[in-house]
Amino acid sequence: MLRSLLLPLSLVACTVHAQEDKILNLYTARHYDTDEALYANFTKATGIKVNRIEAGDEALLERVRNEGANSPADVLLIVDASRLYAADQAGLFAPVKSAVLESRIPKDLRSANGTWFAFSSRARVIVYDKSAVNAADVQRYEDLAAPANKGKVCTRPGSHPYMLSLVASVIAHDGEQKAEEWAKAVVANMARPPRGGDTDQIKGVASGECGIALTNSYYYVRLMRSKKPEDRAIAEKVTLVWPNQSSWGTHMNVSGGGVLRNAPNKDAALKFLEYLASDEAQAYFANGNNEWPVVKTAVAKNPELESLGKFKADALAIAEIATRTPAAQKLVDRAGWR
Ligand code: FE
Repeated sequence: MLRSLLLPLSLVACTVHAQEDKILNLYTARHYDTDEALYANFTKATGIKVNRIEAGDEALLERVRNEGANSPADVLLIVDASRLYAADQAGLFAPVKSAVLESRIPKDLRSANGTWFAFSSRARVIVYDKSAVNAADVQRYEDLAAPANKGKVCTRPGSHPYMLSLVASVIAHDGEQKAEEWAKAVVANMARPPRGGDTDQIKGVASGECGIALTNSYYYVRLMRSKKPEDRAIAEKVTLVWPNQSSWGTHMNVSGGGVLRNAPNKDAALKFLEYLASDEAQAYFANGNNEWPVVKTAVAKNPELESLGKFKADALAIAEIATRTPAAQKLVDRAGWR
């Protein structure tokens, strides 16, 4: 600052301008150790400094909305198809044209108009207590509604984005009427009123309070990889199922983001998204949260995740799921999945 005071005015203006171009304001719902390397490598490659605001998904969405045209945010990274869709519907993202993103991110994992892109993927799996539940009764999401599972099912509230996206995919595959019957029967099978996060559902199974629960895959792997023996013991107590292997495959979801409509540094923002699609960044990004890269050529070494084996993933496009999440919200309300 002091040094720039000694420079001629024109040079000062120039310096300030150059600095402005070299900044990226990132609003992100991520906070993992490997992210440090991710941002440092981006800065090293491009000279663009990353200013980060980390908060929960809902808080970030609200902040961007409230800041409006004055928002300093360039890129928003959030999780779940339903949230990406809501942000897109609210007009928060600017459509971008990028040959890099279009060639590297599969079509099924981005919006049709270039407003948002997925950068990692996760599966929504069933976990169960094999001393209380028959394996044959928990092979499909539909089985959560089976009479055999009365009083055994634990889930988050139905209106949580992870549940809305799953319900949206059940609607896509089984139709709205069957999906609603299913949702009502799942609610009738609850071991306790829906509450807590995914880790709480896994813990509920481990403690015996729940026979069956739903969780995103990375929460289970996080427990497997924990330094705390008590966490690893929880993972060991429960059995994981890749649901719907003989039908439509396991429901997949994503984390992702886009360039914000009011981004002051749009060029830097696009560069950052393109960087996130590089093989190197994809590996950091996926491993940070025990997820899978979305770019086919990226290799993320995660032995615990790989130890869960290969499975058939649902091929439904993420945007297809996303557009059905408002219908899913109405459906879970009607079903009393609170
Ligand atoms: Fe999560």
